Amino acid sequence: MVKAEGVHKRFGALEVLKGVSLDVQRGEVVCLLGASGSGKSTFLRCINHLEKIDSGRLWVDGELVGYRQVGDRLHELRDHEVCRHRAEVGMVFQRFNLFGHMTALQNIIEAPIHVRKMPKAQAVQRAHELLARVGLADRGDAYPNQLSGGQQQRIAIARALAMSPKLMLFDEPTSALDPELVGEVLDVMKSLARDGMTMVVVTHEMGFAREVADRVVMMHQGQIIESAPPEQFFGAPQHERTQQFLSKIL
Ligand code: ATP
Ligand code: MG
Repeated sequence: MVKAEGVHKRFGALEVLKGVSLDVQRGEVVCLLGASGSGKSTFLRCINHLEKIDSGRLWVDGELVGYRQVGDRLHELRDHEVCRHRAEVGMVFQRFNLFGHMTALQNIIEAPIHVRKMPKAQAVQRAHELLARVGLADRGDAYPNQLSGGQQQRIAIARALAMSPKLMLFDEPTSALDPELVGEVLDVMKSLARDGMTMVVVTHEMGFAREVADRVVMMHQGQIIESAPPEQFFGAPQHERTQQFLSKIL
C-alpha cells in the first residue's frame, strides 16, 4: 500500500531524510518510533505529498506520489491531481485540526460533499454512522470547543474516515491529550486496525505499538535503522540506538 525507496528530503542545508525505504502491505499496521527530530513527521508528510521529496520514489497503492511517469521521465502532477491522490489518504495530527466554526457533523461532511461531490443527505447519513463508530453518536451538533481533546481527536478520525481512505497516517495522535483521554482515542484506532485499515502510526504509546502493530520501525537521524514485529522489536532490539531509545522510555 505504501512503498518508499531511498527517499531523501532536505530543508536547506539540513538533510532530514537520508534514504528511507519502507514497504507497508495492505492491512498492515506499522508504528514508527524515534527520537525528536529523527524525521518521523517529515516522512509521513512526504507520503501525503505535503512535502516534496528531493530524490527516491514513493508510491501509495501503486501510484507514484506527486509525479506521473512517462517513459523514464517524471512529470510533476498538477494541483488538482495531487488533491485527488491526497483524498485517498487520511491523516490525523497531534493537534486536533478541526474547523472551529463548524459542528462535529459539519466537519465530517465537508470533504465528502466538496471534494467527492457526495449528495448532502448521503454524507450526513454516513457521518452519523461514523460518529457512532467513534463513540460520539450524540455529539454531532457540538462545536469543537465544546468537546474534550479526546472527543475532538475522535471526530478528527471520523472526518478522515468519511473520505473512505485507503490508508491512514497518524502523527502522535494522542500526545497532546490528558492521560485519561488517551485510551478512548487508542481504542478507536485499535478497532480500525482490527477492521483491516492500513495504518502508519507515529506514536510514543508503546502499549499500543506492542498490541496493535504488525511491525515496529525505528527511525534515527533520517534513516530507518530497525524494523521488526513487536515481540522481537521490544524483546530483543538489535540496534544499539533502539536499545538506548527503549531503555529511556520503557
Ligand atoms: P518529533 O518527535 O519532535 O515530532 P520528528 O521525528 O517528527 O520529531 P520532524 O518533524 O520530521 O521530526 O523534523 C525533522 C527535522 O527537520 C527537525 O530537525 C526539524 O527541525 C526539521 N524540519 C521539519 N520541518 C521543517 C521545515 N518545514 N523547515 C525546516 N526544517 C524543518
Ligand atoms: Mg513529529
